[in-house]
Amino acid sequence: MNKETRCFGCGAIIQSDNEKHIGYVPKSAMNQEDVLCKRCFRLKNYHQLQETSLTKDDFLKILQGIGEKDCLVVYIIDLFDFNGSMIQGFMRHIAYNDVLILANKRDILPKSVKERKIEHWVRRQLKEEGIKPLDVFITSGKKNLNLDTIYEAIQAHRKGRDVYVVGVTNVGKSTFINALLKHYAQIEERHLITVSEFPGTTLDLIEIPLDDHSTLYDTPGIINESQMTHMIDTLDIKSILPQSELRPMIFQLESNQTLYFSGLGRIDFTQGDPSSFVAYFSKNIKIHRTKTINADELYNRHKTLKYEIDGMDTIQKMKSYEFKVPSGKQDIVISGLGFITINSKGVRVIVKVPPHVSVFMRESLI
Ligand code: GDP
Repeated sequence: MNKETRCFGCGAIIQSDNEKHIGYVPKSAMNQEDVLCKRCFRLKNYHQLQETSLTKDDFLKILQGIGEKDCLVVYIIDLFDFNGSMIQGFMRHIAYNDVLILANKRDILPKSVKERKIEHWVRRQLKEEGIKPLDVFITSGKKNLNLDTIYEAIQAHRKGRDVYVVGVTNVGKSTFINALLKHYAQIEERHLITVSEFPGTTLDLIEIPLDDHSTLYDTPGIINESQMTHMIDTLDIKSILPQSELRPMIFQLESNQTLYFSGLGRIDFTQGDPSSFVAYFSKNIKIHRTKTINADELYNRHKTLKYEIDGMDTIQKMKSYEFKVPSGKQDIVISGLGFITINSKGVRVIVKVPPHVSVFMRESLI
């Protein structure tokens, strides 16, 4: 099959190299006459939208195009990884559009944390990023949380305009859209695969009619390379992303102690009075406490500590970030992996992670 075969659903060039890229078809299905890419196939047969991703350049083109339109932008962010869900260039291109923020995966935060508290926290974080949304909604695509309210808000704010849903990969964009589709399942099959050429690009967006009057455009996700999820094998991603409520693991640490997170990262408590470190990670991440003096050796010796990360065979290949943590409650976030809430009178810590993975300090969320 030559390279230029196109999906008869969305028109993307058919390929079987990258499952997350547009136009993917498994090799076994390549020889059929009318090829539907996996995304269109699933949409048509299971009413399920599968996420695809694009290169940064293509994504910026889409963002630019959206910025030039009079439309409503629905921007999905991940409560588990707020910073990791920030789209670079978002402000530059989308600053004048109307934006609704959906803060997704509420179900993984402890139930005891009130929705209003989460919402206020999100609003403060957005303000720091210079993003001024029309409104912020807390949701969980997995649990159908606040879907009616969100749907009504989209209807109210779109004012007859198109709606574009944007987000980085793994924020739960497809899970959310699938939940919407299921919730409002009056979609007729003939309408399901509709494709719109995006001006100025060769990229096609999937159109999802929500009812007779409103169309929602799903844009491909952009890969945020500073997230841990992009360092590890696709098969492992499901296990490092928390699927259910985070259970806090509480450690009273003294200085010169270290916590390892399944060998995907570690935090060294280098200076300060004994303090509380509360770790919020997926249940599949094993947390080991050790003396810092033994920590390098533990990593290099213990194969079981590690997920497969290319080239991360010794701890020396990890990158270090030092933080002077002010007194009170602060979170240290390892993008896409988890966060540690430190409650102290002021301490110093060093965080070690694979290169490219971002580490942040922020106002405590919980
Ligand atoms: P996309 O790349 O933005 O389309 O993200 P996906 O919808 O593929 O979801 C990425 C990962 O996050 C998957 O492991 C999902 O199971 C998980 N996920 C998505 N939405 C939710 C949610 O509301 N809560 C929880 N706990 N996990 C979610």
